[in-house]
Parts: sequence; C-alpha cells; structure tokens
Amino acid sequence: MAELAERLAAIRERIAAACAAAGRSGAEVELLAVSKTFPMEAVAEACEAGQRVFGESRQQEAAPKIAGLPRDLEWHFIGSLQRNKVRKVLADFACIHSVDSLRLAESLDRVAGEEGKRPPVYLEVNIAGEESKGGFSPAGLIVAAEQLPRLANLEIRGLMAIPPEGESRRWFAATRELRDRLQAASGLPLPGLSMGMSGDFEDAIAEGATIVRVGSALFGHRDYTL
Ligand SMILES: *Cc1c(COP(=O)(O)O)cnc(C)c1O
Repeated sequence: MAELAERLAAIRERIAAACAAAGRSGAEVELLAVSKTFPMEAVAEACEAGQRVFGESRQQEAAPKIAGLPRDLEWHFIGSLQRNKVRKVLADFACIHSVDSLRLAESLDRVAGEEGKRPPVYLEVNIAGEESKGGFSPAGLIVAAEQLPRLANLEIRGLMAIPPEGESRRWFAATRELRDRLQAASGLPLPGLSMGMSGDFEDAIAEGATIVRVGSALFGHRDYTL
C-alpha cells in the first residue's frame, strides 16, 4: 500500500532533478498520473499520497472513476477522441491532450461554446510521421495555423507528442521546435508541451516538457486483458 506513495515520491524527485539539471524551475513541470486500466482504488491511493491530476484515455472507462472519486480532482483526456463523444468528454474532463485534427478542434470549439466553457487543449502531432500513430502531421499543423486563432472557445496550450520508443529525445526537441514555428505562424501563445512518459520523461523535461504523462512507473504494469 505504501508502495504507490513511495513510487509517487520517487517520480516527483526525478522530475525535480531533471528540472534542476536543465536549469528549469520544478514548478514548470506538472505530473499527469495516467490511471487508465487501473481501478478506482489505485487512483484513491494516489490521491491520498497527494496527487490531484489524472489522465485517462477512454471516456467510458473513466466515467465511473470520475464519479466515484473526490470532486476536486482534475481529469485530463489523453486518448483517441471520436466526435460523437465530445460533449461527454467536455463534461468530465478539464483538459484534452489528444486533439488530432482540425475537424475535432472545430467540433470541440463549437460544443465548448454551447456549454459556456473554454477548456485548455493540446494539439497532438505525429512528430516522426509514423504510420501507426494519429495526430496532425507537422506540415498539416503549419497549414492549420491560420485557422487556430478562430477557435475562441479553446485555450490552445501547445503540442502533445508520443515519439518513437528508443529515439524519443530528438523527437522531443523536434516537437519543441515545431511548437516555436506554430507559435510564430499562428500568433497564439503556446507555452505547453505535453511530452514524456514512464520511460522517457527526464529526456522530455530536458527538451522543454511542461507536463509529463506517467502511468506504469507509478501504478505498475498495465494489463489490457482485464
Ligand atoms: C498510456 C499512456 C501514457 C502513459 O504511459 P506509461 O508508459 O505507462 O507511462 C502516456 N500518454 C498516453 C497518450 C498514453 O496513452
């Protein structure tokens, strides 16, 4: 039981050390605890250890956890989002990291407007152009730059990326550089970089991540067959 609290403390220490090594303040990097596939009890334990911000990738799986846990937690959506789920996701989640197309962004903007909300979101970029991954292409993002300021009901924070395993550092750097270009092209302030997972969050922090999404290093091995 105390194990999870210890793992959380260890991850926080590693984040602080990575910030210090990069000459950054620890306050610049947020920890998103990715609780997908883990039960409500595991999230409750992390809450007791002081964690307040959690990530989930499926609306249906998350809904009962969100309903069953304290109201003051903050939930971030990190999975593939279908347009017919937009209203439900905006009702349950404070932030969306996986806005993977202009059509989805427009749909979120419209529904957020109807609901009187202005949620923070990240645009997901397929930074290495992998067949298996979704997201904007880097070129597609620059093309979309002109449209983005019109999405007045979204607070576009920046970019999210999941680079290829084993060579993530250079792709984190590429994501940061693309963010800089998109910022210039769109005129929007884009301070956020959602990048880094259990295996590579320190490299992500070295390259400018502002929020790291950590699952298995905190909650343990995920079993997708459950
Ligand atoms: C599952 C998931 C994570 C967490 O991955 P770990 O390697 O377990 O830390 C982070 N980001 C996204 C988008 C995920 O789907």
